[in-house]
Amino acid sequence: MRTLIPWMPAELNALADAGLRRGRRVVRPLPGGACEIDGQQLWNFASNDYLGLAADLRLAEAAKAALSEVGVGARASALVTGRTVWHARLEETLARFEGQEAAILFPTGYAANVGTIAALIEDQDVVFCDRLNHASLIDGCRLSGAKLRVFRHSELETLKGELQKAGGFRRRLIVTDAVFSMDGDVAPLRELCDLAERFDAEVLVDEAHGTGVFGEQGRGVCEHLGVENRVAVRVGTLSKAVGTLGGFVAGPQTLIDWLWNKARPQVFSTALPPAICAAATAAIEIIQYEPDLRAKLWRNCEFVRRALVKGSGVFFRSDERPLRTGSQKDVQEQNADLKKTPDPVAWYGNSVGPIISIVLGEPEAAVAAQRKLEERGCLVAAIRPPTVPQGTSRLRISLSAAHDEVALQNLVDALREVVPIP
Ligand SMILES: *Cc1c(COP(=O)(O)O)cnc(C)c1O
Repeated sequence: MRTLIPWMPAELNALADAGLRRGRRVVRPLPGGACEIDGQQLWNFASNDYLGLAADLRLAEAAKAALSEVGVGARASALVTGRTVWHARLEETLARFEGQEAAILFPTGYAANVGTIAALIEDQDVVFCDRLNHASLIDGCRLSGAKLRVFRHSELETLKGELQKAGGFRRRLIVTDAVFSMDGDVAPLRELCDLAERFDAEVLVDEAHGTGVFGEQGRGVCEHLGVENRVAVRVGTLSKAVGTLGGFVAGPQTLIDWLWNKARPQVFSTALPPAICAAATAAIEIIQYEPDLRAKLWRNCEFVRRALVKGSGVFFRSDERPLRTGSQKDVQEQNADLKKTPDPVAWYGNSVGPIISIVLGEPEAAVAAQRKLEERGCLVAAIRPPTVPQGTSRLRISLSAAHDEVALQNLVDALREVVPIP
């Protein structure tokens, strides 16, 4: 067939030559944090379903009840007629969960970030963005029209220098992931808040990988680090630990009223399906009232890290951010252990929680390692540019409370065989 876009085949081939062309597969989710691809059953270490809630029958039941009452679609944007009682209930539940006055929903976390940032700042303003922030934050910064200052990952001195020079702008906004999605490390939120207070800036935190995972009550990294009252805007997603779909902001009534009027993705997109809202409400209640689920996730994280550390003399530094589970003594012992071990660059050192990245360098290396892990029954993501910077292609493992010890041991054994351990 004649192609109407003649430049495209060659460009696709160029992507393939660089090891960057992505294929598509069909995945069938299975219980226990597993899945089936091309007839092969795999442990799924490439999902964001940190608590296993995506398959929880209580969510499905809540969704079914709403489905049988009103059907599937929301029929309009929230602003027009799309906001049903399920949307209102979810917003109330989120506000209560987050200890805030109100909450507002977005079609996705991506839309929440883009829409919120663009509603807060414009041309006369400046926004400071960590280089490893999620694409949705970066896109939001770009779309806002504000002056964009990108600082190297968690480098506070650079940020401070930039803030010092930014007195002439109308508003200053610092934007960061709470947990960096490709590295699994946590942003230095206390220090960012200190800087913001000193230089009259505001802080926006994306809790995509924090909600349901971090914090005594599961509210995220802001809770964990005690900065909830110092962060101007917290954005969350319902698509990861919450197991459903959608984005949200919870905060003071004024902020929520502002976003209701100004955040374009929420004004110009159709509201979430009511059944999704019903399921998300059930999920938030589970997160609130069943902390054991979170504890199980953290035990799983600890299991894998310990096994990797013990087995290979590698790589996990937790000096500043001890694992939340286990006794204080365990943590101290582990830290002492870790300080003795070398800190090879091939292994990413600062991750805490369910995301563990193993940096291998070139895209081909990551893809080859992924394939070998699959042969051993483990699905792990191979992450390549432009998702991560050049030269840092990697395996990205994400753990879930849905995994049992068999799955975790399988992963550890497979990693030992496949990844060149220093
Ligand atoms: C996944 C993710 C998002 C987007 O959330 P969706 O609900 O999937 O659109 C935003 N920020 C970060 C850091 C993420 O990892």
